[in-house]
Amino acid sequence: METTTQKKIWLSSPHMGDTEQGYVEEAFRTNWIAPLGPNVSGFEKDIEDYIGSNVQVACLSSGTGAIHLALELLGVGLEDEVLCQSFTFAASANPITYLGAKPIFIDSELDTWNICPELLEEAIIDRMSLGKKPKAIIAVHLYGMPYKIDEVLQISKKYDIPVIEDSAEALGSLYKETKCGSFGDIAILSFNGNKIITTSGGGALLSKDKEIRDRAVFLATQARDNEPHYQHSNIGYNYRMSNVLAGIGRGQMEVLPERVSARRNNYLFYKENLSGISGIEFLEEPTGSYSNRWLTCVLTSSFEMRERIRTALDHENIESRPLWKPMHLQPVFKDDKSYTNGVSENLFRRGLCLPSGSNMDQEDLIRICDIIKNLLR
Ligand SMILES: *Cc1c(COP(=O)(O)O)cnc(C)c1O
Repeated sequence: METTTQKKIWLSSPHMGDTEQGYVEEAFRTNWIAPLGPNVSGFEKDIEDYIGSNVQVACLSSGTGAIHLALELLGVGLEDEVLCQSFTFAASANPITYLGAKPIFIDSELDTWNICPELLEEAIIDRMSLGKKPKAIIAVHLYGMPYKIDEVLQISKKYDIPVIEDSAEALGSLYKETKCGSFGDIAILSFNGNKIITTSGGGALLSKDKEIRDRAVFLATQARDNEPHYQHSNIGYNYRMSNVLAGIGRGQMEVLPERVSARRNNYLFYKENLSGISGIEFLEEPTGSYSNRWLTCVLTSSFEMRERIRTALDHENIESRPLWKPMHLQPVFKDDKSYTNGVSENLFRRGLCLPSGSNMDQEDLIRICDIIKNLLR
């Protein structure tokens, strides 16, 4: 049986460049092992230069922690309501509950698969009519595709509700020539192991407002007052990034443009090789959007077809994954309010993420496409 001995192809695995180890060794050589140090400030500066638009960056221990701090910085507290894209990874929504607040889930639209601006506005009007104005909007650039930024921004302005831009999957994506991570009142990034670049684990909080950035660092380092002794007037967190891991991040920033083009090339390869097959569709970039194509997703014609492809790949030692299960369908959020239109549920049933690592070669891609083509012929 040749199938079980085939080389494993992962959905999205870490891909180191040539310089990460040097930065980590530098941390060892100079004994900057403790949190903070030159790699953290260097990594923050690299991200600021890359994103542009005068964003200020605070490197943290995870993207989830960054969302938690973002919500706290926007004043979200007990019993407050936060509007959140339903079609996302659970980490977008979980931090709402850490603060004792309530998520209100908003379904997607078909052009970007992200938060539907019409439903968003409908939800705001409905919540306000119940005497409860939502405190924040969490919008997500899922799989690297920018959400409808102009529309969401306009609604945010109209009702004066700040936006948390979950850019965890969209480092390197652009909207109208401007990098994702610069659109929200606060934005977040993730450097978890499967993201487009990784520090093995880590995240960042971004804002054009330096006070917000500095306040995030304050809260992330146990909220210590400016006194010689340890004095605390606020509850703090231990959320800062370690100087060792930031070294990996500095090396990864040097190869980020290559990683984006490799992922975009994966998408193009799949599209050229599979779009002739009836029942397989791809999500195109709307005008003005440039996706990092973190993961290439296909829409099949049915749940059964999706499962046939997924299990056939699995038999050949190839990892693929259904699209995110919407939050409004998650058991843990079953009692929370949602505004739905069926879009994300349908995407979840029919959609599959194909292996998308930047370290895959042409042979891997051909192998995957051949399995799918043979199956559906
Ligand atoms: C990965 C991810 C996060 C969380 O980031 P971590 O660094 O893993 O905590 C948040 N939102 C989305 C959409 C993600 O994909």
